[in-house]
This record gives sequence, structure tokens and C-alpha cells, in this order.
Amino acid sequence: MKPKFDRNRLIVSLVSAIVLLIFMFIVIKNRQNATASFNETAFVMGTVFQVNLSSQGKTEDPSAELVNIGNRLERDTLSWRLDSSEVAAINASAGDPQGHELSPEMEAVLTECLRISAESDGAFDITLGALTKLWDIDGWANGDNKGDFVPPAKSEIDEALSNCGYEKLQIKDHRIYMPEGMSVDLGAVGKGIYLDSCRDYLSSGDELRGVILAGGSVLTAGEKENGDDWNVGITDPFSDGELIGYIQVGPWQSVSTSGSYERFVEYEGERYHHILDPATGYPAKKGNASVTIVAKSGLLSDALSTACFMLDSDAAVSLAKRMGAGICIITDDGLVKGDIELIHQK
Ligand code: ADP
Ligand code: MG
Repeated sequence: MKPKFDRNRLIVSLVSAIVLLIFMFIVIKNRQNATASFNETAFVMGTVFQVNLSSQGKTEDPSAELVNIGNRLERDTLSWRLDSSEVAAINASAGDPQGHELSPEMEAVLTECLRISAESDGAFDITLGALTKLWDIDGWANGDNKGDFVPPAKSEIDEALSNCGYEKLQIKDHRIYMPEGMSVDLGAVGKGIYLDSCRDYLSSGDELRGVILAGGSVLTAGEKENGDDWNVGITDPFSDGELIGYIQVGPWQSVSTSGSYERFVEYEGERYHHILDPATGYPAKKGNASVTIVAKSGLLSDALSTACFMLDSDAAVSLAKRMGAGICIITDDGLVKGDIELIHQK
């Protein structure tokens, strides 16, 4: 007998198959759309580095490469402490009439730093190596000899200052020429340069969004999912480790803060911090407790936060404006100045 054609059974099988296909499609699609989070804390370039990123779909965790980028930058390019770096080779060439050949990256960094020095009338100066070593800023950063600190004598400061001055540094035909005794210290821009490298790495690849912190500098990576600005926390200069509020920042911006509360030592009741005024050789005292700069370039935001700390608040606001950057100053009296609104959260 010929088997009877069961129409109902066929329909049920077909519907089941379609439902199964739809289900598989949804599962695969959801897997592709799942949000992956990458949160990492590491110690890079002598400071705390924090990644808080997320992405839609399948993306490799970028944290390890971001840490590597920082370690490579420090070792091969920026650190005056490591003999392997380009800055160390530049410093070793001081006094050599032949000068020293620069990599294209270093030439770009130094040229931009010299432009900011000129624009800030020397408030920002990368040739302060002799002075920063005399004050032993690195020593207090490590916390080793905080108790033994004695401020240098005026005569020592004047001697160190005679080996400083960006106008005495020359770049010509891709070579740098420095007088004997001069030494470059890129401590004020290292983190900003690092964030620029992070941005180049992230913006060329998969779609990642979030924030990256390197010491006192922050990069807003990409756009927030809902298109809002990012909220970037600002440290309370008067209260250890707490936030005073936040500012709102668009995508792919760098935010750098320089403050007298960040690194300091005390001697006979007086506080000495790590941002040195090239005009006097002493820690800057212009009434600023912290200066925050927002700019597209990390190098610019980092350099300007240091430069503006050295200026009284009106001059700082006009310098930031001239350089196309946003600024938020908290003065020693607790006043807030500048064109970027500080939103208090307390
Ligand atoms: P931080 O390193 O804490 O983020 P800054 O970006 O303001 O702080 O940089 C301060 C560092 O820059 C100091 O540790 C020192 O190495 C260097 N420095 C200090 N004063 C100046 C200055 N006037 N111009 C350029 N660099 C400076
Ligand atoms: Mg800086």
C-alpha cells in the first residue's frame, strides 16, 4: 500500500524547521551584537593606566597592546632615565657641535613643544632637566626620600637655571643642537603623547568606546552609545583622592589636569610641588590649585595644563583660548574659572 501523504505532518515539520532557523539566526545575531567590556589597570610610564572600554560584537581585548605601546614609548623614546631612549641620546649629545639626528616622531614632538613654549612665553619649557633633577621630583614620586627632602639653595637653583632655556635649543635639518649641560625633560607631556598613540591605535581599528586614563590625563575614546558627552571626573584639589565634580567632553578629546596636590613634599611647614616656574626656578605660585585643559591633541592638553598652572588665571584662560583649547581652573581660594563648566556632584 502506498504510504498516505500526511499534509499536516509536513506543515508542522516545515514550521518547526523555520522556527529553528529563526532561533539560530537570533542567537548568532545576538552573539555578534553582545557588548564586550575591557577593563584593565596597569602601571605604565610611572603612573596608573586604566582602560574602561566596550565594543559591540567580536573585538580583541586592546588592553595588552595599549600597555605595550606605553612601555615602548617610555623605553625607546621619552624617558630621560633610560639609556635606551631617544631623549637619553639627545641629552648625551648636549654640547656636541654636530648635534644629534632626530626621528621624525621626536622632531614633531619637540617642534610642537617649542611652539607651546614660545606661545606661553616660556612658562612651559622642556629644557628644565637640570632643574627638575636638582629638585629631585622623581625621588619624591617614588616616595623614597620624602622625609629627607631639603629644598635646594638659591645658588644651586641659579646654576641649574643657567643650563635651561628652550631658546638655546635648536632644531635644524632634522638635527637637534643643545648647549653643554642642557637636558630635555618631557615629563609634562609624556602622558599626553601616550594618549595620542592610544587614540591612533583605537580609532584605526574596531569600534571601541570608553575612557582611558594615564595619570592626570584622560582620553575619551569614541562616541557614547546614546550620543551624549562623556563625564570626566575632576579631582578635588583640597580633598585627597576625592572628586570635586565632572566636566562634559565630546568624543576623541584629551583632558589633562595639573595640580599642586599631585606630587609634593614638605619642609619646615612649607609645601613644595612638582610644577616649576622657569622664571624663578621654584614651584609655581600663581594661585591655582588645579588646571584642566581639554584639547583634541593629548600633547597639547598635557603641555597646556602645565603651562597654564604657571600663569595667573586670566592669562591662563587667554592662552588656552589662543591655542584652541578649553580650560577649567580651580583656584587656591576654591573659585572656578574658565570656559568649561565644572558640574558639582556633591
Ligand atoms: P604630571 O606629570 O603630574 O601629570 P605635569 O603634566 O604638570 O604633571 O608635568 C609635571 C612634570 O613636568 C614635572 O614632573 C617635571 O618633570 C616637568 N616640569 C615641571 N615644570 C615644568 C615646566 N615649567 N615646563 C615643562 N615641564 C615641567
Ligand atoms: Mg602636563
